Amino acid sequence: MEKFKKAAPILEKIEQAGFEAYFVGGSVRDYLLNKPIEDVDIATSAFPEEIKQIFPKTFDVGIEHGTVIVVYCGENYEITTFRTEDEYVDFRRPKEVTFIRSLEEDLKRRDFTMNAIAMTKDGALIDPYNGQEDIKDKIICTVGNAEDRFNEDALRMMRGVRFVSQLSFTLDKKTYKAIKRLAPLLQHISIERIYIEFMKLLKGENRSKALELIVESNLYQYLPGFAEYSKEINETARIIENKYLNELEVWAIFLISIEKEPTENFLRKWKMPVKMIRKINQMIQAFKKRETEEWTKEAIYYTGLDTALSTERIYCAMHEIEVSPRIDKIQQIYNTLPIKHRNELAVNGNDLMKWVKRNSGPWIRDALEKIEVAVVRGEVRNDKEHIKEWFNS
Ligand code: ATP
Ligand code: MG
Repeated sequence: MEKFKKAAPILEKIEQAGFEAYFVGGSVRDYLLNKPIEDVDIATSAFPEEIKQIFPKTFDVGIEHGTVIVVYCGENYEITTFRTEDEYVDFRRPKEVTFIRSLEEDLKRRDFTMNAIAMTKDGALIDPYNGQEDIKDKIICTVGNAEDRFNEDALRMMRGVRFVSQLSFTLDKKTYKAIKRLAPLLQHISIERIYIEFMKLLKGENRSKALELIVESNLYQYLPGFAEYSKEINETARIIENKYLNELEVWAIFLISIEKEPTENFLRKWKMPVKMIRKINQMIQAFKKRETEEWTKEAIYYTGLDTALSTERIYCAMHEIEVSPRIDKIQQIYNTLPIKHRNELAVNGNDLMKWVKRNSGPWIRDALEKIEVAVVRGEVRNDKEHIKEWFNS
């Protein structure tokens, strides 16, 4: 409620200017579910230019979609003009939107009844599609005819399954049937939009069920690279059930189960950021090593603590063994490492050149690497004199 209270003066200002304004969307839904609210979304009858005249500090993000950011008390608020999306092209969201003055029309274009509830600044609810009842029954149901709504924008099918994961709700029967029938329409949706929903799905507490639904509803056949792997998706769903694993670890488990190399190519089709791809890859490589070796000081040092911990969580999940003592052990070994990073070495290239009176060259790197391993293993103490003695012997 705190966040709504803080934003209430914004609604008041818009109303004083002669327009309507409401809280809408995910924030109202999550509030009714007693869940923590991320950002409040505001919908208004005022057009973007009119909003910009009311507030001194605004900036444009998607003015063609009717969205303006208003800066108020140091926070950013997304304010979106009521709109309809009457012309859908190729099962995607429309190119153009029409701004309107009616709240009901705006709520009608929203995906699910639970997301089509508006709230006034005083907390009164406007709920023409009985979203509150569906929230009470934990049901995800489209606003109006499910097939029509998925034909308009096929991403809504992915959103539906994503909410199954996030909220532990179930799909309404007709909504589910429509997804199963229209799953192929997902082909028309850009991977960027699908990726966002899928990553949210992987973070949800009911993600195992949602992954099973992805298979059962046939949506998986239209996700990049997934078509051949219904068995492995279900297997991943089983492995991750009730386990503490982040979404990158879940990706790693799936990629390990499908045994497809190189994983970069697979993830690039999803347009995953390169940094994330690299992290997942590191986990997979470390996992392969872990299959035959226990953790040593050296292995933890070179793998890096975070990747080592992720790898162990993956290993334990896949072999169904208890994770926490093993995580503690890795942490303990890490704490005893004489250095955590190469730049903590007590010597550098200049020292080496002085000791052996040789010009700089690639030999320095080789020598430093040898010193580094010896220090990590505890074969020589990380102090200049000891290293010099060890180096010259
Ligand atoms: P989250 O808590 O993850 O942000 P959300 O419901 O707020 O969930 P958003 O993607 O932020 O989801 O969208 C805000 C609102 O916009 C939704 O609640 C819904 O009313 C509407 N909406 C978003 N995407 C669509 C869509 N593809 N079709 C119809 N309405 C949509
Ligand atoms: Mg939102």
